[in-house]
Amino acid sequence: MRIVEIFASKQGEGLWTGEPSAFVRVGGCRLHCRYCDTPYASWNCEEGENLTADQVVQRVISLKQPHVVVTGGEPMLFRETTELTQKLERLGLIITIETSGTIDLPVRSHLTSISPKLSNSTPDISVGEKILCRHEQNRQRISITQKLIDSYSYQLKFVADAENDLPEIEFFLQQLSHVNKNRVFLMPQAITAEEISAKEKWLRPYAEEKKYVYCPRMQILWYGNRRGT
Ligand code: SF4
Repeated sequence: MRIVEIFASKQGEGLWTGEPSAFVRVGGCRLHCRYCDTPYASWNCEEGENLTADQVVQRVISLKQPHVVVTGGEPMLFRETTELTQKLERLGLIITIETSGTIDLPVRSHLTSISPKLSNSTPDISVGEKILCRHEQNRQRISITQKLIDSYSYQLKFVADAENDLPEIEFFLQQLSHVNKNRVFLMPQAITAEEISAKEKWLRPYAEEKKYVYCPRMQILWYGNRRGT
């Protein structure tokens, strides 16, 4: 499988914020989100190296972290992710899978972190009609998101760019069943501390009113918008 980077850091988002973790970034994604913060691992991934699941496991072991986060790109695109998570589980590691929630692949996961893509993820036409159409056709699969929620311990992380994204988040949630509100995280779309602070002003009160969880992107506040963090 194509692996772009493996590094140790702290989880910056969601339920396990602050947990020391090894991050395994799988290369490749069929989406083309406007705000993607890892384009080098996404639609046009040319970085990294092809590694077997055993090679990835050896590198993760060397990092000596209690958690491992399998992220991307879109790790659920690749059937090797199944074998990788099985091997990581046998080591006793606490596994998070980060996914857009649109692909159903059997994996071993202690936390399936689903980031549904709203219309604010849609790229503009400059990317080309074909890429734009592929993004729109693939960015949401309610039935698969529901299956992931029903099958795993989960969290839903929504990226909000502006206040008019909030009704769309509500509409998405209304199409799902059995969603625990304290597993719904609302994150500002931001790559600087200043942007986080500006969007927090309307996003935090909304999350609190709805009994969701406001989720600043702590990795940006800790390290800035840098790779390998
Ligand atoms: S799903 Fe994630 S990795 Fe893929 S384009 Fe969107 S933000 Fe980037």
